[in-house]
Amino acid sequence: MDDRLFRNAMGKFSTGVTVITTEFENAPHGMTANAFMSVSLDPKLIVVSIGHKARFLEKIKTTQRFAVNILSENQKEYSMKFAGQLKDDLEIKFETLDGLPVLPGALAQISCEVVSEHVEGDHTLFIGKVLDIKLEEGNPLLFFSGQYHQLAEVEVISS
Ligand code: FAD
Ligand code: NAD
Repeated sequence: MDDRLFRNAMGKFSTGVTVITTEFENAPHGMTANAFMSVSLDPKLIVVSIGHKARFLEKIKTTQRFAVNILSENQKEYSMKFAGQLKDDLEIKFETLDGLPVLPGALAQISCEVVSEHVEGDHTLFIGKVLDIKLEEGNPLLFFSGQYHQLAEVEVISS
C-alpha cells in the first residue's frame, strides 16, 4: 500500500498535539507527537509512540521518565519547533514538574515513568505510569489532515 494513502487516512483522525519532554544529560529535550492515548484508569497509564528515526528515542529509553505536554491553541510554534520545522530560533523556557522539564501554558502537563516498551514496526510504544498532573484552562491545538486547526467555537454537543 502507498504510504501517502495510509497517512492521508490516519490524518482523517483529528487529534490534539503533544510535546513529549525529558531530561537527558542535564539538558531538556522535546519531541512533537500526536500518537498519544489514555490507556488505563487503574492503574493510570498512557501510551506514546516514538519513531525509530527520532533522536528522542534513545533519550526516553535511557531516562525511563518523560512528560506529556498537551498544547493549547496558541502553541503551534512549540509544535513546529519540537518537530524540527521551525527555522527561527525560539527560546524555550521550561518549567519543572516532578523533576521533569515541562512547557508553560500547556493545557496539561503529565509526568510519567516508563513501565513497558513495545517495538511495533518502525515505532516503539512506551507505556507510561502517570505520576503527577498539572492542568490549565484553554482550548486545544488540533491536527487534522496534516494541518493545524483550532476550535471554531467551543460548543459542547450533548447526546
Ligand atoms: P530533534 O531534531 O532532536 O528535535 C526536534 C526539534 O526540537 C529540533 O528542532 C530541536 O531544536 C528542538 N528541541 C528539542 N529539545 C529542545 C530544547 N530543549 N530547546 C529548544 N529546542 C529543542 N513522531 C513520532 O515519532 N511520533 C509521533 O506521534 C509524532 N507525531 C507528530 C505530530 C505532529 C503534528 C508533527 C508535526 C510531527 C510528529 N512527529 C511524530 C514527528 C516528530 O515530531 C519529528 O520527526 C521530530 O523532529 C523527531 O524528533 P527528533 O528527536 O529526531 O528531533
Ligand atoms: P501527515 O499527513 O504525514 O500525517 C497524517 C497522519 O499520518 C498523522 O497524524 C499520523 O497519524 C500518520 N503518520 C504520519 N507519519 C507517520 C509515520 N511516520 N508513522 C506513523 N504514522 C504516521 O502530516 P504531515 O503534516 O506531513 O506530518 C509532518 C511530519 O510529522 C511528517 O514527517 C510525518 O511523518 C511526521 N509525523 C509522524 C507521526 C508518527 O510518527 N506517528 C505522526 C504525525 C506526523
